[in-house]
Order: sequence, then C-alpha cells, then structure tokens
Amino acid sequence: MPERIRELQGEDPFAEVWVIIPNQLTRLHLRRQVAESLGVVANLRFMTMHELARTLAEPITTRDGWRTLGEAAVDPLLTLIVSRLKPSLGYVADISTAPGFRRALLRTRQELILHEVSPRRLLSVTRQEHDQDTKLRDLAELLIAIDTELERLRWHDSPGLLRLAAEATRDTQFTLPPIILYALYDLPPLARRVLARSFTATHVTGYLTFDKESAEYEFTRGLYEWFLAHEFSHSPLPGVDLQQQHYFISAPDNTRAASEVVRSVLMPAEACDGEIGIVLQQKSGVFTGALRSRCREAGLTPFIYEAQTLGDTAAGRGLRAFSRLLGTEFAIEDVAEYLLTAPFQPGYAGVAGEWVRLAQEAMVVDGAEEWQARLARLRDQLGYRAERRAQSEDENEETLAVLQQAISNVDQLKSFLQEMFTVARNVVNAASWQEAIKSLWSYYSQVIVVNDEFSDIVLQLSQASLLDTAKIPLSATGLREFMEVTLSTPGSRTGRFLQNRPVIATREQCYGVTFASLHLPGCNEGTLPRIDSQDPLLLDSDRLTLNENLNCALPLRRDWQARERFWFSVLRESSKQIYYYTARADDEGRPQLVSPYLSGLIERQCRGENDTRKLDEIFKEHPLCRYAAAHPLAGVPEQAISAMEYHRRSLSRALENHSTNALDQLWRTSDFSRTFDAEYKRFSASEFSQFDGLLADSGALSNIAEKYDASRPVSVTALEDYWKCPFRFAVNRELEAYAPEACDLLQPVSGRERGSLLHRILQTYHAARTGKPYLEEHFKWADLQQLAEQTLVDFKQRYPVGPAHIYHRMREDILETLEKYHDYLLRNGFTWQAEHVEVSFGQREKPYPDPLQLVSETGEHAQFRGRIDRWDVDSSKSQCMLTDYKSGRIQKNSRGTSRRIQLGIYRELIEQRHPDLTVETQYLHVNSSDIVPAYEALDVDAKETALSLLHDIRRGVFVPDPDANDGAVCRHCNVKLACGAMRHSSKPLTEKSVSGMRTIRDEEAMEEGDDE
Ligand code: SF4
Repeated sequence: MPERIRELQGEDPFAEVWVIIPNQLTRLHLRRQVAESLGVVANLRFMTMHELARTLAEPITTRDGWRTLGEAAVDPLLTLIVSRLKPSLGYVADISTAPGFRRALLRTRQELILHEVSPRRLLSVTRQEHDQDTKLRDLAELLIAIDTELERLRWHDSPGLLRLAAEATRDTQFTLPPIILYALYDLPPLARRVLARSFTATHVTGYLTFDKESAEYEFTRGLYEWFLAHEFSHSPLPGVDLQQQHYFISAPDNTRAASEVVRSVLMPAEACDGEIGIVLQQKSGVFTGALRSRCREAGLTPFIYEAQTLGDTAAGRGLRAFSRLLGTEFAIEDVAEYLLTAPFQPGYAGVAGEWVRLAQEAMVVDGAEEWQARLARLRDQLGYRAERRAQSEDENEETLAVLQQAISNVDQLKSFLQEMFTVARNVVNAASWQEAIKSLWSYYSQVIVVNDEFSDIVLQLSQASLLDTAKIPLSATGLREFMEVTLSTPGSRTGRFLQNRPVIATREQCYGVTFASLHLPGCNEGTLPRIDSQDPLLLDSDRLTLNENLNCALPLRRDWQARERFWFSVLRESSKQIYYYTARADDEGRPQLVSPYLSGLIERQCRGENDTRKLDEIFKEHPLCRYAAAHPLAGVPEQAISAMEYHRRSLSRALENHSTNALDQLWRTSDFSRTFDAEYKRFSASEFSQFDGLLADSGALSNIAEKYDASRPVSVTALEDYWKCPFRFAVNRELEAYAPEACDLLQPVSGRERGSLLHRILQTYHAARTGKPYLEEHFKWADLQQLAEQTLVDFKQRYPVGPAHIYHRMREDILETLEKYHDYLLRNGFTWQAEHVEVSFGQREKPYPDPLQLVSETGEHAQFRGRIDRWDVDSSKSQCMLTDYKSGRIQKNSRGTSRRIQLGIYRELIEQRHPDLTVETQYLHVNSSDIVPAYEALDVDAKETALSLLHDIRRGVFVPDPDANDGAVCRHCNVKLACGAMRHSSKPLTEKSVSGMRTIRDEEAMEEGDDE
C-alpha cells in the first residue's frame, strides 16, 4: 500500500489521498506502517465509513442544519414515540413499553436502513399469517414515526448519516481525491451504494485478502465480485516467503489489542501460510497464562505484547520529563524528575541520584542562573570543609575522600546542567520545528540508552516537520504540547515481529487465512459456536419474506450459525495442527463444560471407524491433550479447583478404578458425608423430610410453635405468603437469608416501592375526603394530580430515583394510573363514600386495637392482625365495601391471585364487630393498563384456610411448593437454587408426602372442593 500512496501522490507530495479503513485500530497500524516505509507523508487521510459519510453528507448537513443524535437522547426519544403510538399498535403493544423492545427496535431500524429497506416498503409485504402482518405493520408504523421525528428535529444517527451521504452523492458530482479501500469486509448495501458513487469520481484501489482455492473464499466472493462489477481489475500481490520457524506470542487479554496485532502482521500479506495462529474466542482472556506456560514448556520465549503509550516506555518517561524543561525556569522538581526518570547512559546513571541530593543541599529553587550560583556556593562550602578536614583531624567531619568526591559530583552536575540548559534554549529558539526536533534528539540520544523502544518515538517526532510545511510557528508551549501528544500516542510495542510471525486474531479476522499450527483458546460451551438468538422483531421467517418480496438481502441468523460452523470446519481441514483449549472452570471458579459442538467435532476427527470413545477418553489417552485450568488459584491444570470439584473428581476416579480407597477417604471428610447424606435423602425419598424443610428437630419445633402460638396475633399478609410457598416464606421471612430486591442503579425504584408510593398517594387523597360521596365536586382530578406531583417531588428529594428519563417515565406511569383510577371512581361509585382509610386491627391502634379472634371447628384458637386499605359505605350506611389495592399486573392462573385470604379475614372482622352491616369486599387492581375490581376472592373459606395454614406452620411444614405453571411465584423466586424446585416438582405437597398436613394445596383438589 505505501508504494501505491507514493504512486498516487506522484510528483506532488502534497496531493491528497483518502484511505477508507474498517476501524480505528487499523488507522493506527497503517499510520505506523506508512511512516516506517515512506517517512513523512502529507495529506493522507484515514477515514472510517462513518467519517467518509460525514464528509460526503456535509453539503446537506450544513445546508439543512442536521446534527448528530446523542446517545443519551435515543432512549427518551423512542419512549416518547412508542407511548404515543401504543394505542394503535397490535402485535407489539404489550411489550412496547419494555426497554428491551426499544433496544431491539433501534437495532432493527439500523439494519433495515443499511439494507435499504424503507418502512413504507414493509407495508407492501403481506403474508398468510395474520400475526406476522400485524407485526410488520406495527414495525413500519413505528419506524415511520421515528424517521419523521428525527427529520423534524434534524437529528441523524450513524445509518442516518450514511443515508444523507447517499442523498448528497445522488445528484452532485464530487471531485474527490484518489481513494484506497483497505480491508473493508463488511459492507452493507447502503455503504456499497455510497462507495460506488464515489468510484465514478476518482481513482480507487481496493485491498482484499483471499485465496480463491480455499473454501473461505465464499466469504469474500460477494465483495470481490462487486469490485469486478464496478470495473476493478484484479492484480495479485506477491505472497510472503515464510520460514518454518515457530514463534509464540502471549495472548493479549483483550481482543482490541489482538486486533492490532493481527492488523500488523496479517494485512500486508495476501495469505500467510506456515504460521502459528492463536485465535481468540469470546471470554478467552483467561487463557493467557496457559498459553505462556505452553511456550515455556516448548522452550520458546514468547513475544510479549504490551500496548503502552509512548510516554509509558522508559525512553518516553524521560523524554516527557525533559519536555517539561523546555522554556521553563528549570524548577528543581522538574530537573529532579528528569534526572530520576530518564534511562541515562552508564556514566550519568550512577550519579543522577546523587546530583539530586546535592541540588537539594544547595537549596536551589529554579532559574538557570540560580542553579549555577547555588551550585557554585555549595562547591565553595565543600572545598572549605575539605580544607579544614585536611588540616584538623576532626572526627565528626566526613572523610577527605568523600568530600572530594562530592566536589567532583558538583562539578559534573554543573557541566551537565550547563549543556542541558543550552540545548533547551536552543531547542525553543530554533528556526523551525524540524531543526528543534533535530537538536533535541541529537542531545537526548547522546545521554540516554538508545534501544528499540525509541523507534516509535523517532517516527512520531519526525512528523513535526509537517508543522513547518503548514507554516505553524514554533514556540516553547507548542513544542511541549506536540511532545505531550506524541508521547500519549497509544500502542508502543515492546518486542519485535520476526519474519515468521505468530498471529493472534479474533475469529472474524481469520477469513481468508490458513495456518499450519493453530491454538484455539476458550472452546467451552456457549463460546463455540456462538449462540446468536434471533431478532424478535424480524425473525428469520420475516427476513426471508422481506428478501423475497422486496428483493433485499437481510442476513439470516441461521446463516450466521452455518457460517460459524463452516469457518470452523475450514480451520480443521486446512491446518496441520490445532490445539483446542478448554477450561474446567471460568476465572471465577464456576465449572464450565467443553463445547458439545467441539466435542462432537473432535470425536469425529480422532475416532476410527469402529471407535466409540468419548472426548474425555480421547483427551486422557492422547499425550498432547489436556484441560487447562482457568482459575487463577489452580496453577497446575490437573489440580482440583474447588472442594466440590475435587470431591466430584475423586469420586469419579474411584468409581472408574473400582477402588474404595478414595471413597473411604472422602467419607471421612465431614462436609462430603453430610452433603452426600442430605442430597441422597432429599432426592431418593418419595416423602418430604427434614432435608426438604420439614422441621424435625424438637428445639426448632418448639420455637416455631411458640412464635406462632394462639396468644400472638399473626399477620394476614405473612400467612398468604406462606400459602404461596412455605419454603420461600421460611427463607425470606424466618431466616431473612436473601436481600428482598437487588438495587438496579439505573432503575433504583423497585416495583414494590412504586406500589407503596401509589398506595400512599391514594390513602392521603381519600383520607382528606372521608364522608364525601364520590362526586365530581369533591373529587377533582387536578387535586389528585397535584397531590401525586407533590408526593413524587418529596420522594425524589429523599430517595435515589435514577436518570432523569427513568424518573420521568415512572412519573408518567403513576399519573396515568391515577387518572384512570380517578375516572373509575367517579364512574362506578358515586353513591358511596369512604368511611375510613387505613383501618388497622390487632396493632394496638384505633379503631380496632385488639386482634381478630378465630376458633376452628376442632377448637383451635388463633389471632390475626392486618390493615384494611379503604372502607366505603353507601348513603344509608347499612352496607360497606372493603377495598384492598393491588398495584402489580394481574396474572391469570397465578398463585398471586388464587391464594388470597386477606379480604375474607377482613370480612370476618367486620361481621364480628358490626353484625348489622352488610359487607362486600374487593381487590382493586390499580395499574396503568386498567383499573380492575376482583370480587371472586371470596370463593375461599378464609377462616378455615387461615387456621389450617397456621396449623401447618406450627407443625414446622416449610417444604418447597413449586408452581406447576412456573408462574409468578417460582419464576421470580430468589431462593430457587436452594429449594431444588425442579426436583421437587415430582413430589407434590400433599397429605401423602407430609403426613398430618392440613392445608389443601393441590389446585385440582381445591377446585373439586369448591364445587362441592
Ligand atoms: S422456586 Fe418455587 S418452590 Fe422453590 S422456594 Fe421459590 S417459590 Fe418455592
């Protein structure tokens, strides 16, 4: 490529050339490569596709005032548009408020733009299935709205900018400089269109790595043919002659660094054969250690790649310290830093520390004159002391030799500084940038050790001469800034690439390349093949339809997987040796499995015809196969990584060898025997036992019986929780073993907090209006709105509410809910009025300080406490309605709605205390989708259920009760791992599995009972 640049610039070294690159790292690599080959080059612009689009779109963006859509504005904007359109949406209406939906929408929008599918074209596609039609219509409607809004605001995102570039290049014939397209593999149709228009305006050279004979050619074929279709002629570059030496390279932990390495070694060659490649999978950074140790075993010195800034190298640190001395007053701190940081030649290095000490003794502050004067005074003092020491034999004085050495050091320092001051002055007073850099460098390279690290610094500094060409005047500040920027350039490498080079690459960068030896770290489940789920807004079936109907080429997810598999098989066939690296644990010690796909592949590859060995056996027998330990504490791969892993391994080895020794040993470990015992009893018995949460210990039983004794009032809500799942109740309420809800920094207000906020607003609103009928004159939306706003402001001042747009959404949601609630109130209850709000009982508060007393048919006593949300009466005050608010969404067939006793207990209370009143009850679901009253809760005999539940608690029944539908109860349960719900699902909680248990839990039995 450098030769092509030189050619394109021809006679005019200032002729502009554009190089279009795939990413920023390539820019860095190419800059270095060009500087190495050509020295100083002017007017060479490296641009990504985005930057090219910005340049081409400039006439339109400037004329019409388009601005970039900021990252932070995307989500609020989409939220606004989606909520506006929600009433007219069909298929996606239910999920449209979820943040995940907005992210998916944005991705789909970008993909459609890049593949030139406009939203209106989506509307022209109709399919057999009604649902799909509705989805495409929804999608089109949303995308049109987003486009309209962005157009109105004159904001563009990245694909939008490319679209503007396409528009700008449609009619205008640009005069563009020559263009080089460098290794652009992924070019969507819109980008190709923009490029194709640029081709007509100028000379274009494209660089592409491929080998037509190899199977991977499939991946570049499309692009190659596209080049040919645009009248490119093909001229192959010579291959690289490689020797068969092996060099290893340590794996950089991040793939960005790996990218840089691969660009450095890969791109200049058409195909690299005979090399060692290390291909990084996702999450394979943990294998760095394993790769290093492999190098050591092979007797090889690995190439250490460290991406530092130039200023981080020893030479760079010294040069940075020296740059601070340019044009300053030579403050002692700066001089000392320079003396202590720069990698000086041996003659200076030994005394630099002593010089700093002497400067401090001389009490220098700053200024070249002061340095000289104070050092001269110090020299006099030392001379005087040496004289005295020579005459008297004062034992307290330093020896004469020490004093003479100090004098000599001061002399050396003075002459060193003199030279340094002169150079510094000359540098800042030089006639040009080039001269300044030259004199700085000739001085610096004399006093410091010159090594490989300097090559990058020299290259960077040489760019200063461009400033002369640009007629930028030299100044001390400008020079210091230039050096600072130079030293902050990323990517100085310590190490050297040899002719036969190892390659570290991410998978995507290995298309078109074959390797003799290959190392594949991170071949664990989930990494290979990479699991790529379908885009819910455009499933593969939708994409196929669009491709057929609209003549576009949206990529299919299933092709992506085929591509992955294909790529892998290519590697298998074309390489002489492949090393697969798998770990038994990730870097946090969690066990990992070998990729099943990989296992299948190797098994097929290694097995003979009648061989049925499994991967583990192959690994065991093959001298080169091994598992690598990723856990930092497990240095030796065969070593166990945790007690559990160790036990499992010992046990499996013992079983394999038919030896009982290891088992005997294991049994002596108390942890192992206890765990084994518990697990065995838990999962082999058909009845629940103490290992499942059925209390058997007499002490624990008497404690629980005392806590839930008839003399202590029990909370009705706690009892409901127990009914939903006894195990979860025990862990959450009795043991308090799990945090109730993890705090999300972005969304710190939990669903529970939002519910209580809503609750508080309603209670305050109704409390101020007790005794007033639900008529518009007493209940005004403006009042409720004001109260809600005030409560929200108070809440916001006291608690974290997250980013502004999240808070804004919560506020909108609460106000919308309340508005619906308000409508409902006036629509349905105008003859009623609230008598009481927050009526507590059994809490030692008015109006019912005493608990509700109940006695079962068998004579068991119990007391209950609780709080009624609202108590309404009709105009004659002979009827009352008890209301309990529920702010969560209504879940059909869920335990949350079927196992409730609150209202039944409240009804018992009122019937006991006010026998003359007719009682009705309702759960009022208050949420933004609707306000729904639920009266059906009274189907359950609350009194008997409450008493039977309490009876079971007193007997210590805390076993798991998984929800057969995996409804809200188990799906959101935070103790799932501890309860073993999956295994218990075959052991239902009935009287058979827990003898003496009284509460009927089987849903079918409950329904039968109800019918009777
Ligand atoms: S997962 Fe289900 S069965 Fe297990 S504790 Fe939670 S709610 Fe109970």
